[in-house]
Order: sequence, then structure tokens, then C-alpha cells
Amino acid sequence: MPVNKTSSGRLLEMPGAPYRCVMRVKAAGLTDVGRVRTGNEDAFVVRVEARVFAVADGMGGHAAGEVASRMASDTIAALEVPAPATAEALRQGLLRAVTTANHAILYDGERQPERAGMGTTLTAIAITADCREVACAHIGDSRLYLMRGGRLTQLTHDHTWVQDQVDSGTLTTVQARAHPLASVLTRSLGSFDDVMIDSFTAPVEPGDRYVLCTDGLTGLISDELVLKTVAQASTPDGACRLLIAAANEAGGRDNITAIVVDVSAE
Ligand code: CA
Repeated sequence: MPVNKTSSGRLLEMPGAPYRCVMRVKAAGLTDVGRVRTGNEDAFVVRVEARVFAVADGMGGHAAGEVASRMASDTIAALEVPAPATAEALRQGLLRAVTTANHAILYDGERQPERAGMGTTLTAIAITADCREVACAHIGDSRLYLMRGGRLTQLTHDHTWVQDQVDSGTLTTVQARAHPLASVLTRSLGSFDDVMIDSFTAPVEPGDRYVLCTDGLTGLISDELVLKTVAQASTPDGACRLLIAAANEAGGRDNITAIVVDVSAE
């Protein structure tokens, strides 16, 4: 209910006045090795107080994928978030962090032959202190989804060869998910010095639920099942557990990571 303070300090209801409320963030993250692989090359960051979240999916032999995703997630974990910061400032801060991670992974790979060619995806978000806007930086095929009003929208674009085929009408999304080249990336951290990173800001509404995940989830279950699964959980932690269980039930052939972030009005 809109309120206004009188000179005596009492709270009065003000019908028609702009609704002012405090929003808050609840979040959880979970990773699972899956049912086939022996190691986990995914990494994630959940910083509820700073409202910063990220998933990274590493690739490369001799455990180098683990190193790459960890380097990317460590960079986001160390991101300094000035308060208050605009969404645009957060977007630029994320971009700088992702660029720093790219250079670190690239040069580490060049210095250590056993890590040559290692790389990682990175999808990171930061929510403003007033929880009105979100900034995102993204590269690779991990994803950011928004569940709002009972609908699920993918906010990031996969940087994969199969996504290019979907965009040009050569493959359907169902065919793309099952394609033998489904995991071939067109962009990732650790491949080029001057890599193109997607970024954007978007308005946040009370009741929004954000999902960040690696392709160990979305390569196995459809968006419809992601929505159905996420919608039936009352908490972020419950949603993460259900998502990982669904991917494992579908075969669990890859590492699976999910972060669920709820923004609610207090
Ligand atoms: Ca993966």
C-alpha cells in the first residue's frame, strides 16, 4: 500500500500516490557432475549481498577447462560493485571483468602448454541496489532466462554453430539441441585477444525469477520443461535442485549448473 509520512511521523495511506516498496533478492546456486563425466568443469558465483551472479562452463584437456571456468568465476567473484551504481555502470564493470578474465585465460594457456586452447563460457549478471534493473555480460552457450508472469524468456543468445543454423532457418531448436555439433561454440573466453562480448541492461519487476545455467541443463531439457520445473519450486534452492534432477533424469551426460535468483517486494 502506498504510504507517506506526516510531520508527526505517522504513516498515512495515500491512494493514487506512486507505489514505493523495498525489493530484495534471494538466490541459490548448485552444480552437479552429472551421470557420465568424472570431473566438473563448470563454476558459478552467487553473491547475494552484492547481487552478482555468474555461471561458467570450461573446456580443454587435462583439467584445463576447470582452470578456465574457475579463472572466469574468480574474476566475477572479485568484481567491485560500487553502491549505488547505475545499471549502465554495472554493465560496464561486468564487461571490464569479462575482458580481464579473457586475457588471463588466454595468456595462461599460452604460458602453460598443457593448458593450450583452454576456454570457457561466462554469463554474469549484476542487479542494482534498488533492484530495479539488471545488467548482463555474456559469451558462449550458458544462458540467462527470465521467468515473469508464468512465461520463460531466454535473455541471452547462444554463441554456437547450431544457433547460427537456427537463426538462418536451417535447424529447429529441437534439432539444434540433439545435433552432434550442438556444443561447438562460435565465441568463448580464451580463444581471441579481442573477443566480442554481449551485454545489456533490462528493467526488473517484483516477482521476477532469473535462471542462469550451463548447457548441461539446456542441452538435455527443453525450455518448456525448464519453465515447468522452475515454476513448481517455491524457493531458489528448491528450483536449483529440481533443475539438476531433471537434467540427470534426462541422462546427465554433461556437468549441470543452475543459479536461481528471485526478486520480490518486501
Ligand atoms: Ca557443458
